[in-house]
Amino acid sequence: MVRYVYDFHEGRRDMADLLGGKGANLAEMTRLGLPVPPGFTVSTDACRAFLATGAEPDGMSAEVSRHLSALEAGAGRRLGQRDDPLLLSVRSGARFSMPGMMETVLDIGLNDGSVLGLAKVSGSERFAWDSYRRLVQMFGSTVMGVDGALFERAMTTLKGLRDAPDDLHLDAHDLAELVEAYKQLIREETGEDFPQSPAEQLRRAILAVFASWNGERARIYRRREHIPDDLGTAVTVQRMVFGNLGADSGSGVAFTRDPATGRGGLYGDYLPNAQGEDVVAGIRNTVPLAELERLDPGSYGQLLAHMQTLERHYRDLCDIEFTIERGTLWMLQTRVGKRTAEAAFAIAAELTDEGIVSADEALSRVDGEGLARLMFPRFDAAATGEPLARGIPASPGAAVGAAVFDSTEAVRRAAAGEKVVLVRQETTPDDLPGMIAAQAVLTSRGGKTSHAAVVARGMGKVCVCGAEELTVDPAARRFTTRAGTVVAEGTVISVDGSAGAVYPGAAQLADSAVMRFLETGERSAGVVAAVARALEHADAVRRLEVRANADTPEDARRARRFGAQGIGLCRTEHMFLGERRKLVEEMILAGDDAERERALAALLPLQRQDFTDILAAMDGLPVTIRLLDPPLHEFLPDHTELAVRVAAAEARGEEPDPHQQALLEAVGRMHEENPMLGLRGVRLGLVIPGLVAMQVRAVAEAVVARTRAGGAPHAEIMVPLVGAVEELRIERAEVERVLAEVSGESGVPVHCPIGTMIELPRAALTAGRIAEEAEFFSFGTNDLTQTTWGFSRDDVEAEFFSAYLDKGVFPVSPFEAIDRDGVGRLVRIAVDEGRATRPDLTIGVCGEHGGDPGSVHFFHATGLDYVSCSPFRVPVARLEAGRAALPGGGDAGR
Ligand code: ADP
Ligand code: MG
Ligand code: MG
Repeated sequence: MVRYVYDFHEGRRDMADLLGGKGANLAEMTRLGLPVPPGFTVSTDACRAFLATGAEPDGMSAEVSRHLSALEAGAGRRLGQRDDPLLLSVRSGARFSMPGMMETVLDIGLNDGSVLGLAKVSGSERFAWDSYRRLVQMFGSTVMGVDGALFERAMTTLKGLRDAPDDLHLDAHDLAELVEAYKQLIREETGEDFPQSPAEQLRRAILAVFASWNGERARIYRRREHIPDDLGTAVTVQRMVFGNLGADSGSGVAFTRDPATGRGGLYGDYLPNAQGEDVVAGIRNTVPLAELERLDPGSYGQLLAHMQTLERHYRDLCDIEFTIERGTLWMLQTRVGKRTAEAAFAIAAELTDEGIVSADEALSRVDGEGLARLMFPRFDAAATGEPLARGIPASPGAAVGAAVFDSTEAVRRAAAGEKVVLVRQETTPDDLPGMIAAQAVLTSRGGKTSHAAVVARGMGKVCVCGAEELTVDPAARRFTTRAGTVVAEGTVISVDGSAGAVYPGAAQLADSAVMRFLETGERSAGVVAAVARALEHADAVRRLEVRANADTPEDARRARRFGAQGIGLCRTEHMFLGERRKLVEEMILAGDDAERERALAALLPLQRQDFTDILAAMDGLPVTIRLLDPPLHEFLPDHTELAVRVAAAEARGEEPDPHQQALLEAVGRMHEENPMLGLRGVRLGLVIPGLVAMQVRAVAEAVVARTRAGGAPHAEIMVPLVGAVEELRIERAEVERVLAEVSGESGVPVHCPIGTMIELPRAALTAGRIAEEAEFFSFGTNDLTQTTWGFSRDDVEAEFFSAYLDKGVFPVSPFEAIDRDGVGRLVRIAVDEGRATRPDLTIGVCGEHGGDPGSVHFFHATGLDYVSCSPFRVPVARLEAGRAALPGGGDAGR
């Protein structure tokens, strides 16, 4: 038989699926013998049934009646009994805490008759009428759907008439008048009377709480927190206790330690003569919890003891609600409390020291996102004031600088030592130099996966994007806020990438101690020590190695300081930019083999030096060097720009510049409709003679140079965008030929493992064949996501991803978190078939997903050997790789 109702004595902490977090924890406190007013919980099963059919499931109401009778018997009085009413609260509570998102109704059981009885037995008319007006107000808005603001307005009007500064200055008479006004309001708004029957009040309140699961607030909250829509809420029915019975009563909230820093001690607020949410609603000034010691030392002492019991029992920071009724303390709620990232690390370390949790468990309680937050400098929260605008918090941290409106200006000012914030409508790859030069990037368009956001996160740079309230005018070099404030170039602004806000002027900055530790290894006390311990334990337990994506010696060195165990992706295209563009142009325009060879020969020593420096920075560790990947026309000037230049020269009657003209022709010839799917990756190597040979020679000669210098270079050569084993076989032969050549010339044996990226569905599906020619695989999950979904990332993110996210096509962008069902399936196939061919195949991932916490857990589970991510994400990946290896898999996040 299905059961829908559970007494507090029947539940347990681990029954949150059925009883909701609140119901399960009330049951747990009851089991612990803490003073919890008795009650019962109607399960989420009942809610789901109700939401599906619109009616209470069979048998539910009989069960409720039976539990109510037991409650009445225990109290020795009946619900709403005229001379001495039993009153109840009806509370919502889902599996995951959704604070304030659903509804609660207090003081069920009062009516025109029982309010008089309550006045008499309590000896306080004011209390009785205060409780009644609360019931009518909560019932009216929650159950009967009257706009809550109307009740507030009636209350404010009455306070005005009575010259009452707050609700305590309204007497019994005033409150009785208010009840009448409220009832009148309900009648006008709904055409119905406030129900006088206590049984009807109870029944309707329960159903209203069920229905509040689908309230707008609750839905929005769930979407943001990725809580499934089909869980439903439980309803807890509980005997009321009263904090509004006078000065010796009150209600409060408390934490067993400071949720901001994790420091031990008692934190909370208390409000005398108050009920329910008064204490957090800001209707009167609360007092700090310490004050309770003076007001009611007995209750204070008990509260302390109970909180200690709870923290010991839950082995974690607890947050609680309590009420004192005429000197008697009652516990009304507890849960493992939300906390800041700093507190999470501090508490985990402290509880380990106290022997309360194991090192494994401590590690499971912190996470990579929290660590990432701690790595950025922050604003002093108290000192920021009203923001100019809000946007999407795309890359955390805090930065101050002068607003600039293009990349060139950012670079110019930064070179002169000025700190700048690059403000754009949105960024493109052309803005890269400016982004690098800036302290922060602010855009008025685009979401969390826009170019600005992705690049900024990769660089560990502060970014707020999609600040739609701003009108950015790059031509006039200024932006305007919705309020009409104009911010001109050079004006100092502050960007909070953790909160997604922009402030005028220079807000106070606090340095990140955690970042200092990661950079220097200097291990101070407090949160830094806690982070160090978590990372050490993660390193000890993790199976996945963590490498970094790094293209320069500086990045390589930083990655190494952050704990990278090699470079998983060294892109070579950045080495073809700047001054070297000219040589690349010459190579492309070469009329014959000799010309091309000359251009390549000029590039060779430059490439060799690049690789030598990187191999030195990563001495002793693997460096996976990817052969040139992007289409070559990316290195040529823009077609329109060139055409205009040539046409203008012609118009002036000048002799046409043959170089310009040749370039223009080449650019026209090389134009591609879909460059992403065009002549790039391994295809370049197969059709452009000499290119691969030059790159491989540069690598091999760098290895020779490092070996002669006494180093331990471990270069690996990686071929991009392979779709068929034949492509790799041809390219591999060329690579091996050059390696052998250099070995022969130098007398230094050069052994470089040769492998490939798996970034096309066909590569994944034929991985068994491809592994015949590859010593390693590296999943390029950015391209693999693009090609699996048929998404052109730059286009889709700007155009319609926000709509897709809103419509719930996916909860997060597949470019942020690996799409386990689709792209992930290809990864699994490739791992299985690749290893079937070559059991010692090394497999890693070098897409951005390598630094995404949830994705790291997936790669661990899939049996990869390493993840590779941007240097700033290396500590995050180390931590998450450790958590993934914990028994039970840590918490992969929802
Ligand atoms: P929320 O989930 O929004 O915190 P709650 O169910 O905890 O909602 O209830 C709202 C307020 O009413 C809280 O302050 C709570 O402590 C108080 N409350 C709930 N039940 C009772 C009760 N039986 N007696 C006294 N106060 C109660
Ligand atoms: Mg609560
Ligand atoms: Mg790629």
